Amino acid sequence: MEAQLLRALPKMDVLLAHPALAGSPLPYAALRQAARERLDALRSGIRAGSVTALPSLDTLAAQVLADAGELCRPHLRRVVNATGVVLHTNLGRAPLAEEAARAAYDAGRQYTNLEYDLPSGARGSRHAHVEGLLCSLTGAEAALVVNNNAAAVFLMLSALARGRGVAVSRGELVEIGGAFRMPDIMDHSGATLCEVGTTNKTRLGDYAAALHSGRAQLLLKVHTSNYRIVGFTEDTPLSALAVLGREAGAPVLYDLGSGALRPLPGLPEGPTVSGALAAGADVVCFSGDKLLGGPQAGLAVGRREYIERMKRDPFARVVRADKLTLAALEATLRAWADPERTRSLPALSALAAGEEDLRRRAQALAGRLAQACPACAFEAVPAEGQVGGGSLPGAVLPGWAAAADPAPAPVNALEQALRGWEVPVLGRIAHGRLLLDVRTLLPGDENTIAAAFAAWGAGQ
Ligand SMILES: *Cc1c(COP(=O)(O)O)cnc(C)c1O
Repeated sequence: MEAQLLRALPKMDVLLAHPALAGSPLPYAALRQAARERLDALRSGIRAGSVTALPSLDTLAAQVLADAGELCRPHLRRVVNATGVVLHTNLGRAPLAEEAARAAYDAGRQYTNLEYDLPSGARGSRHAHVEGLLCSLTGAEAALVVNNNAAAVFLMLSALARGRGVAVSRGELVEIGGAFRMPDIMDHSGATLCEVGTTNKTRLGDYAAALHSGRAQLLLKVHTSNYRIVGFTEDTPLSALAVLGREAGAPVLYDLGSGALRPLPGLPEGPTVSGALAAGADVVCFSGDKLLGGPQAGLAVGRREYIERMKRDPFARVVRADKLTLAALEATLRAWADPERTRSLPALSALAAGEEDLRRRAQALAGRLAQACPACAFEAVPAEGQVGGGSLPGAVLPGWAAAADPAPAPVNALEQALRGWEVPVLGRIAHGRLLLDVRTLLPGDENTIAAAFAAWGAGQ
């Protein structure tokens, strides 16, 4: 039986000569790889006894064609974010503005003056493209851009605190996600962590004692951007730390994580970069792809003396930003420089969207989906969005979603089908319905969602 099945397996060349494959425009290498994998799987299945009958040659060729198509499809691809989480780290955080994406495209396709000073014809600095803009937008003396904020924080500690003690509140020894835990980062950077205060209360005197005892020479504040301690708490404001630091000659560093450059009407309130500098921080680090609404990057702004030391640190070379990032970042900062355009940055306009506007959009989407997919019941429902990306924890964004009820089909099956659609549609399940939050939809996403629902409905 086993031997008979193995003998009956088509040979590679026979399978690849099937008209569906021989006539396919897909690259031969992908077809061959897919065919080999299918035949290998059948062979092991026969040996293990799990395959007791062979598919027809037509079926096998169709499977190989589908597998080869999958192999050729970009692995990193567009999805529809209908989760209502604006800066969703798993979905790539902030979508770029049109101008920012175009700038990255152009920088990628052409030669640029990345590290070339055109007036002098000599070698230039890659920081020059955004430093002036960052300074004028935040009030800083100097600025530096690296690959991401984790790198900016590490570089800051490595350049300014190596071999020295850094006082940090026990309430701010955060884990940002992955392996980014403040105590470990401190350790790897060569700085010595000097914990002060307690988890819920850290007073100015705790920092002062660390400085005066000689255990710490620098002060670090970390924005607890992905959690909040509530109840019996006390936190030392940055402005008080700055006064203490100045008196003691200790630099005051601030890992802000996510911050808008300046307060923006319509956004939930939180610390801003310009506010942190005005409060007296010597160096502020933050992400490019959180509330700034730009590409992944780590930005450090502050006093020239410290920023220059960071630029000269060998680690700066290890984490330098590339030309695509710098191009997209410059365009994003230009949008910040023009108040008319700031609100049009996609992440910021999603955050600032009004409830009434969202209600209308959710109703329109529910109506449209009801037409596309009679197998589900749709209704616009209030839904809470989130800032995400570890920004503004606890901030609730009142919004609206189109809720799909597939009963009697299970909602999990609907969720899975939409996730597996050509352009995966990602919503969230609540009370037996699939919620599609309209806050995070980008132009054209409604069409994609309607097509995905139509395909699902046709199979019911
Ligand atoms: C997000 C965040 C980081 C890490 O920033 P990345 O840009 O993701 O590297 C570091 N510190 C704080 C406080 C953050 O919120």
